[in-house]
Amino acid sequence: AAAGTNAKLFARTQQLAVTDGLTGLLLRRPFLEQLSRELIRSGRRRDPVSIVMIDVDHFKAYNDGVGHTAGDLVLKRVAEVLRSTAPGGAVIARYGGEEFVVLLPRTGRHQAAEVAEKIRRLVAEQIPGGSRTERRAISVSLGVAQSPDDAQAGQELLRVADGRLYQAKRSGRNMVVSS
Ligand code: GH3
Ligand code: MG
Ligand code: MG
Repeated sequence: AAAGTNAKLFARTQQLAVTDGLTGLLLRRPFLEQLSRELIRSGRRRDPVSIVMIDVDHFKAYNDGVGHTAGDLVLKRVAEVLRSTAPGGAVIARYGGEEFVVLLPRTGRHQAAEVAEKIRRLVAEQIPGGSRTERRAISVSLGVAQSPDDAQAGQELLRVADGRLYQAKRSGRNMVVSS
């Protein structure tokens, strides 16, 4: 029994080392490792790979308006939308504070943009905005990049996706930019 408990504890510790406590999603560093592995695999097979970067819009104002605890709940709900939307085989991570990333193996730009658009729509529809004081609905901006067309290395692919995410912000937010 003690050995069983130890094995469970070990598995739990391993899990804690790679996943985010709030959302249960993969952390940035283990995500980057998975991305590198996937890019090598897909390069050999000449498969496309896409990533979607996601950032919550005006989240500082939301936190300032309704508080950090309500903000945390929004992040959990965004994570739930990502889990329910991403196809099987996708890798989902909490990339930073209110930034997420989805890795889509064997997926080209067009299909990835469709996944991104579905995420955008579900967040806008399903996550209520704040309280009486902060009426704006929660939304996310998204940037899509595809390997090998946009970049072949993981960091460069992330940079391209991040640049498009920035374009989505500049164009008014609650938007997907994929090329
Ligand atoms: P933009 O639309 O340009 O993305 O504006 P923004 O306010 O979302 O961007 P900014 O980067 O200025 O603010 C991000 C905010 O996210 C700041 C911080 O308060 C909040 N944040 C980051 N991590 C967490 C977290 O774990 N919990 C909560 N509640 N808030 C977080
Ligand atoms: Mg941000
Ligand atoms: Mg933000």
